[in-house]
Amino acid sequence: MMLVFGPVPSRRLGVSLGINHIPPKRCSYSCVYCQVGRTKHMETMRQDFYPLDQILQEVEIKIQASEKAGQKIDYLTLVPDGEPTLDKNLGNLIQSLQAYSIPVAVISNASLIDISKVRDDLTMADWVSLKIDAVIEEEWRRVNRPHRLLSLPSILAGMQSFRNRFQGEFVTETMLISNVNDSVSAMQGLSDFLLELKPDKSYLSIPIRPPAETWVKSPDIDSLERILAFVNENLPFMEVIFESEKADFVSTGDLGEDILSITAVHPIREKALALMVHQAGGNWHVIEGLIASGKITCIQYRDEKFYLRRFPAH
Ligand code: SF4
Repeated sequence: MMLVFGPVPSRRLGVSLGINHIPPKRCSYSCVYCQVGRTKHMETMRQDFYPLDQILQEVEIKIQASEKAGQKIDYLTLVPDGEPTLDKNLGNLIQSLQAYSIPVAVISNASLIDISKVRDDLTMADWVSLKIDAVIEEEWRRVNRPHRLLSLPSILAGMQSFRNRFQGEFVTETMLISNVNDSVSAMQGLSDFLLELKPDKSYLSIPIRPPAETWVKSPDIDSLERILAFVNENLPFMEVIFESEKADFVSTGDLGEDILSITAVHPIREKALALMVHQAGGNWHVIEGLIASGKITCIQYRDEKFYLRRFPAH
């Protein structure tokens, strides 16, 4: 089994070599939007998964191949298809990876951050991302569907305690789901928590790829507009990620239809849309036509414009 993939371009980390050191879907959460499907093995017990030597050997091969190809790697990223802090050897792994003199990043769901050994392990990384989708108990249960032994107040306290001692770059990630964690009170609660936590950066996303549950939807246009205005006013360190890391535009020959299908999945930045129109040999009149006919709409966020599909009200 391949445990190392890439390097791949990452919006947050530049060029990232991904390390998948947990078997698929061994997780303490079963998030409704998870791209890997529902969690079959819900767990909170830290354990041994793959031998350290095996992981390091694969990392070494990839680094050498990248060097040969003249490809610089910005981060070695622990981003498994499960929860990285379930790995009992996480601290050892991070320490061993530091021998390559490439910064180490970890993307965690934060569910075990109330365990002091987990905090010790994560402190060794250079960049840590912790998930925070909800600070209201009921919403946390609905969106993350946590293991029954987990406690939200403990996790929030653990995040704060980690923040107080972590010297590296500290970011948070929040996924917004329509009618689950996108209400005014949900955003206010999240904002209060983040303002106290003071991460270097917070990322706000919406589901882009197929989620574990088919009912999961991105907030509608009105909610997105309200949320973006709120973020703009209250959370200067928050950045929105509405598009996938990779270009997902494949022309079918009908530019109008292509734009409708892409903007139905996620909002698209004006720059990306202009490039797409250009590559398809079209011009901006197509976009103006779609806006005039009410099929797509444009929302402004800070100095950027996003275009998204407007569906008829039922
Ligand atoms: S924490 Fe990550 S891997 Fe676990 S269920 Fe949620 S999205 Fe999937």
